[in-house]
Amino acid sequence: MTGRLVIVGGAPATGKTTLASALGRSLGLPVITKDDFKEAIATPFATGDIAWSRQLGSAAYSALFTVADRILAAGQGLVLESNFRRGMSDAPLRALARLAPTVVIVCRSPDTLRHKRYEERAGTRHRVHIEGAILAEWISDDTESLIDIGSPRLIVDTTDGYSPSIDEVVAFARSATIPEAMKREWPADWSERVRGKECPMCAEGRSDVAHGSSRIFEGRVSDAYLTRIDVGQPGYSVVIWRGRHVSDPTELNTEEASAYFAEVLRVGRALERHYRPIKMNFEMLGNSLPHLHTHVVPRYLDDGEPGHPPHFMRADLDPRNAPTIPEQAYARDLAALRELLRG
Ligand SMILES: [Zn+2]
Repeated sequence: MTGRLVIVGGAPATGKTTLASALGRSLGLPVITKDDFKEAIATPFATGDIAWSRQLGSAAYSALFTVADRILAAGQGLVLESNFRRGMSDAPLRALARLAPTVVIVCRSPDTLRHKRYEERAGTRHRVHIEGAILAEWISDDTESLIDIGSPRLIVDTTDGYSPSIDEVVAFARSATIPEAMKREWPADWSERVRGKECPMCAEGRSDVAHGSSRIFEGRVSDAYLTRIDVGQPGYSVVIWRGRHVSDPTELNTEEASAYFAEVLRVGRALERHYRPIKMNFEMLGNSLPHLHTHVVPRYLDDGEPGHPPHFMRADLDPRNAPTIPEQAYARDLAALRELLRG
């Protein structure tokens, strides 16, 4: 995921649009601003009063948040700039912040300077901004613009250039981290587990029953088990490499690899003969238990996931509370498969 959300806020005339543009250039992100939307929406209409301007502002916000949502949901990033307000903008900004690593940057400068800047640029901007009315109702207190949505926030003083410096602001925007709601972390000791730390498949030895499932095949370098859990795919079996601990087949030498795959295919052929599937899947995942093993999954015409990987592979199936194949049917299949895999 490369997307990130950089929210730039601040009271009117604090230089937030200029800062947002600079950030967009440095970060290679599009800059989406409420004013762009507001001006575009206003274009076909005659100029109205301050109420009209506020209505357009509300329409612009709706469009702004929808577009931002679509961009972030697609895994892309953006700089989002407006004079967001505490309270009013909180909920939609928080919703966006759940979609990507997010930072908030708020521009601030003394009120006298803001007022002066606003007066100076009055009349130079799009007619939608109703500058006279805003100056008449000028709000000198900018605390309403100090948005805080729980994401890391940086206040930038824009009195004279930027403080902290633009480089520091860019570095802050780059530091955005994955939001809690999106976190899918590998275990802290993952690399040790890949190397075999506390590996349950090494620990279990070459047992007749593994993870509640019975062995159907005892090969030279592997054991195969018919899964006792009922995942809705009759014949779902797991072949486990029984040599030294390896987590991926790339760690096998040529002789080991040939022996392992020959045994995996032997199990696959027996399953084909017994269950008559329309397709076989051989999946080597090991993303939760990194010891080389292969899921052998017959697929059927009345399959639960036609045309796709079997969905149950994504579930954490706990043998203690998952449904199991009825005992008689399981015993019958075990006997038939063992017969096919004999000698
Ligand atoms: Zn192992």
